[in-house]
Amino acid sequence: MDEEKITRLIRELLIEIGEDPDREGLLRTPERVMDMWKFLSSGYRQDVKEIVNGAIFESEANNMILCRDIEVYSLCEHHLLPFFGTCTIGYIARHHVIGVSKLARIVDYFSRRLQLQERLTAQIARAVKDSVDAIGVGVIIEAKHMCMAMRGVEKQLSSMTTSSVLGCFQRDATCRSEFLHLAGRQNK
Ligand code: ZN
Repeated sequence: MDEEKITRLIRELLIEIGEDPDREGLLRTPERVMDMWKFLSSGYRQDVKEIVNGAIFESEANNMILCRDIEVYSLCEHHLLPFFGTCTIGYIARHHVIGVSKLARIVDYFSRRLQLQERLTAQIARAVKDSVDAIGVGVIIEAKHMCMAMRGVEKQLSSMTTSSVLGCFQRDATCRSEFLHLAGRQNK
């Protein structure tokens, strides 16, 4: 990332929208916004293998493992506005399980870039499945999109739910329904 260039571009943006980047309140804004972009796009510069590294454990468990309501903050690729909500991940291990904090790190890894909620959901499911060679994985994300709330149709209360199921979660109705039950989604 060329930090100086981004800072300069933000300053130009301020001028183009009719602001004075030299007024007191905006003096350090280009730099702060550059820092923010660095953080919110950090997923592009990480490696998912390094993230899960060292947190894969052997296990005989063959029941479903579920982590509910992991917070998600991402940016919609159409408007560069935030969408945010919660992510629930369930999987059935074959011989390995993953440290629970790493599930949250995987969510952050794919969230900190420009995203579509549908793609984010599928990428998380795929990464969890691949990292532990799970028999099956299910991911549900429920999120509110600021591009719906503060512009366009201006619907502040709507939320979007996406899911992605792989392996036995896809093939086996019992498995899928146990996942939905544990995720608290059966009657929604
Ligand atoms: Zn959008």
